[in-house]
Amino acid sequence: MPLLENYALKQLNTFGVDVNAKLYVEIFSEADLLEVFSNQAVKENKLLVLGGGSNMLFTKDYDGLVVKISIKGIDVKEDGNDILVTAGAGEVWDSLVKYCVANEYAGIENLTLIPGTVGASPIQNIGAYGVEIKDVFESCTAFEIATGQIKTFSKADCGFAYRESVFKGKLKGQFIVTAVTYRLSRTAKLQTHYGAINAELERRGITTPTIADVSEVVAAIRVSKLPDPSTIGNAGSFFKNPIISQPVFDDLLAQFPDIPHYPAPDGRVKLAAGWLIEACGFKGVVEGNTGTWKNQALVLVNHGGATGQEVYRFSEKIINTVQQKFGVLLEREVNIF
Ligand code: FAD
Ligand code: NAP
Repeated sequence: MPLLENYALKQLNTFGVDVNAKLYVEIFSEADLLEVFSNQAVKENKLLVLGGGSNMLFTKDYDGLVVKISIKGIDVKEDGNDILVTAGAGEVWDSLVKYCVANEYAGIENLTLIPGTVGASPIQNIGAYGVEIKDVFESCTAFEIATGQIKTFSKADCGFAYRESVFKGKLKGQFIVTAVTYRLSRTAKLQTHYGAINAELERRGITTPTIADVSEVVAAIRVSKLPDPSTIGNAGSFFKNPIISQPVFDDLLAQFPDIPHYPAPDGRVKLAAGWLIEACGFKGVVEGNTGTWKNQALVLVNHGGATGQEVYRFSEKIINTVQQKFGVLLEREVNIF
């Protein structure tokens, strides 16, 4: 596998930040991984695993090896009424969703149009419209960098939580996901109560929606609200929704009676980060080459020529302003390099 030097990453991150990697290699199979990591010199470099680059912000050139995962392939097995779909880590996530919707395999239709790859889907336990990957995750295989072995992770092994997994936590930097298996179903249990899905189905006169209807409606809502990374650089929601304790929430509610809130695990309360940011006056703000999206303040954008440093500094300003107004600390969802 050729290691390329001083490789341009501008087309490989959806923020469109213009940076280079000291070294770059593209991987098409588990055998490629074994070959690359059998070279001791490679192991001495800092390592960044790259999927679709849709959940990262580069603040400088990457002074190490970028390993782009392009392992392809989709395999389907029947298991009673369930369908076990295994996809290579380099498959485009939304293409897999389209494939499953077309074949009437239910379970991931609410996750339509999320950018990125299959291999990244368990990393932050991707989620949208009330469904998370943990709801359909069966297992994944991953290459252990230290040993060169392929290990299998069950759902329990992955330690999934809101936008979290073991791969972002205690095993960070140790494994490269090579394939993921999802347990889907021939019997759809559609989730339409979240966000504007029901309202949009109603507007279309659909009373008994199919998997394809839900997927189409989710796609339409997303297109209307979110900037398309192919025309305006962004990495989706820049911050996680904060989860706070009930007593802290009770104090906030007394001051801000219309604050949106949702129940979270362990009796805590989830706030909508986008609402907090908008309430601080940031929606649609343009600051230099960066800013917040006009339809969703949670999304930071590159209006053209923004550096990662510029976007990062703007995110700090947002964090500080939200903290001053609400006493709530926003945590970045986007991975910073
Ligand atoms: P990358 O950005 O390339 O990588 C993300 C992280 O995962 C990095 O730390 C990387 O090192 C690691 N990684 C990637 N591949 C592997 C692998 N094979 N093995 C080990 N580690 C790996 N996210 C949601 O959860 N829900 C949404 O609804 C959503 N909507 C979005 C909308 C837009 C417009 C955009 C731009 C982003 C959105 N995102 C959303 C964020 C993003 O699409 C997801 O997090 C996605 O899973 C990232 O995939 P990727 O392949 O681009 O990962
Ligand atoms: P939205 O529908 O305007 O909702 C705003 C916030 O309220 C969301 O953050 C959502 O939390 C929460 N929410 C709404 N209805 C809820 C319910 N019934 N129960 C619990 N929480 C509820 O949000 P949006 O910005 O248009 O995004 C729609 C969906 O796509 C959301 O699920 C969002 O997470 C996902 N999305 C994610 C990204 C990303 O990069 N991570 C980017 C775009 C969209 P949750 O975010 O926890 O769902």
